[in-house]
Amino acid sequence: MVTAKSEIWVFGDYRNYFQNRVTLQLISRATDLARPLNATVCTTVFGCNTDEWVGEYIAHGAQKVYLVEDESLKNYSSDRYVTLMERLARQYRPEIILVGATSFGREFAPRVAKRLGTGLTADCVGLDVDDDGLLVQTAPAFGGNLLTKIVTPHKRPQMATVRPGVFREIPHNYEATGEIVRVPLPKDLPADRIRITGYEHRPPLTQKLEDAAVVVCGGRGMGGKAKFKNLFELARLLGGEVGATRPVVYAQWADEDTLVGQADRHIRPKVLFSFGISGAIQHTAGIIDAGFIIAVNKNPNAPMMKMADVAIVADANQVCLALIKELRKRLRG
Ligand SMILES: Cc1cc2nc3c(=O)[nH]c(=O)nc-3n(C[C@H](O)[C@H](O)[C@H](O)COP(=O)(O)OP(=O)(O)OC[C@H]3O[C@@H](n4cnc5c(N)ncnc54)[C@H](O)[C@@H]3O)c2cc1C
Repeated sequence: MVTAKSEIWVFGDYRNYFQNRVTLQLISRATDLARPLNATVCTTVFGCNTDEWVGEYIAHGAQKVYLVEDESLKNYSSDRYVTLMERLARQYRPEIILVGATSFGREFAPRVAKRLGTGLTADCVGLDVDDDGLLVQTAPAFGGNLLTKIVTPHKRPQMATVRPGVFREIPHNYEATGEIVRVPLPKDLPADRIRITGYEHRPPLTQKLEDAAVVVCGGRGMGGKAKFKNLFELARLLGGEVGATRPVVYAQWADEDTLVGQADRHIRPKVLFSFGISGAIQHTAGIIDAGFIIAVNKNPNAPMMKMADVAIVADANQVCLALIKELRKRLRG
């Protein structure tokens, strides 16, 4: 049973808007979970010049922030961040650790769990507390066809990664206050085994994907990152946004804030272009409210082609390039 001093930790992933939002969503859910557990909601923040984020997390419900600041933590380093989290967790012994299921969180959290010798439920779509005070972690299983509820009765901390968009963040409260625990950087943190040579950002979304009237969605059939980039130009010319399937996001042809599907993002464009997408149920569940669908696929029997209002049997990249050429001509004229 949980003691009065137990803590629920949310890893503060502040590196871009999307990752920051899932952190805020988790702080909100942690606040709900903390009531029956009589627990304190905490975030951990690693980085450099993080005042803005510490303030943001407190304004959105964090009661305590464990802060480790150092120039060497400015960029994510798996070795250093994982070791830091492990040490903090061993020292302060949180009951629960929640991490956003971003590409970062999906790498970071399992490593921390392994180091701490505890379990981790990945990609949760629900979190509750049962009568025994255990965290009930709801996650898709068997290809997403079933939802399973998982508890961690013996090991601590109980750990989960949670998909962005599942929970609603608490509105910003400028008057909120919280405790900041400044933890000095341990001198013996391991050196980075990975060197980051640079960052490449795609242009930010000009509107929310969920609100866009035109969405150009691409799948694995686009055939590679360079070809996928053409979809951004097509979307720009159409005044729309780019969406993507899960394999595309996993292959890092597009950021995860483009992901469309059952548990990630539902879109309602008036016109949806679907390039090189097979039409798996996990994807089409996110586009059922689309108005008019134009699909391009080499395979006329792909489920996406059956769902489309206009189905073009062709190479996706060639059609994309032809549309770009035509639109440029018309927009110039
Ligand atoms: C628990 C769970 C949750 C999931 N959630 C999501 C989700 O939210 N969103 C999501 O998208 N997926 C999700 N998936 C994955 C999903 O099941 C599919 O694997 C995925 O949607 C397939 O993506 P795709 O259509 O890009 O790739 P594929 O299924 O590989 O399809 C590629 C398509 O491109 C066509 N093609 C190939 N070359 C060309 C070409 N040159 N020109 C034109 N067409 C071409 C092929 O004929 C094929 O139809 C989830 C899976 C699981 C297990």
